[in-house]
Amino acid sequence: MRKLAAGNWKMNGTAASLTEVSALAQAHPAPACDMLLCPPATLIARMADVAKGTPVMIGGQDCHAKSSGAHTGDISAEMLLDSGASHVILGHSERRTDHAETDAQVLAKAEAAIKAGLIAIVCIGETEAERDAGRTLDVVGTQLHGSVPADATAATLVIAYEPVWAIGTGRTPTLAEIAEVHAFLRTRLTARIGVQAAGVRLLYGGSVKPSNATEIFAIPHVDGALVGGASLKAADFGAIVAALSAA
Ligand code: PEP
Repeated sequence: MRKLAAGNWKMNGTAASLTEVSALAQAHPAPACDMLLCPPATLIARMADVAKGTPVMIGGQDCHAKSSGAHTGDISAEMLLDSGASHVILGHSERRTDHAETDAQVLAKAEAAIKAGLIAIVCIGETEAERDAGRTLDVVGTQLHGSVPADATAATLVIAYEPVWAIGTGRTPTLAEIAEVHAFLRTRLTARIGVQAAGVRLLYGGSVKPSNATEIFAIPHVDGALVGGASLKAADFGAIVAALSAA
């Protein structure tokens, strides 16, 4: 399977940041993995213009479950596609926390995204309290079952395992802990969507940076990364792309 390095710019970036995209594309004109950047919605169309004809793909960070209507401030999957996006991140822990998104809502968004023709990147992950209580596999198993459409395929779905306590903190699980969760997710995903699960990219996310990327990408069932802070600069994200290309 072709691996995926995905960058989540969160609420960062203005027109001045678009030079990072051209720098990334110039430095990695033919990587051995997929490259995706998910900027804030205000930049999607402009970033898609800059990325045209390069291997850099563009994604959104959320979408509404409906295709249009009276939902002030929201954006539909169709609108993301129309702006030049091919992917959308759904159920990121910051949205689950800041906007109280439930598994059922993430599922509805994922169904809408796939129906519109986007690839849905569904995020799951435990809090520190849940890990300390020994509930990690329970929590991610429940989130996966509740947020992943049963008819998703390797072509329409990506899963990002992101321990909440590892996001933006500089802390990561041990390699053995990541390996345990990813192997578990492959099994649970097979129970949810069947044989297609073998080809679904399982990304690890949470403080991935150039210095730890190689060891994380060597873990079985880690098929790429969802990267926050280190995706904002072409040099850092490019180093992660290079590590994934070499894995
Ligand atoms: C994220 O936002 O999905 C993320 C993993 O952030 P960071 O890489 O900054 O921890």
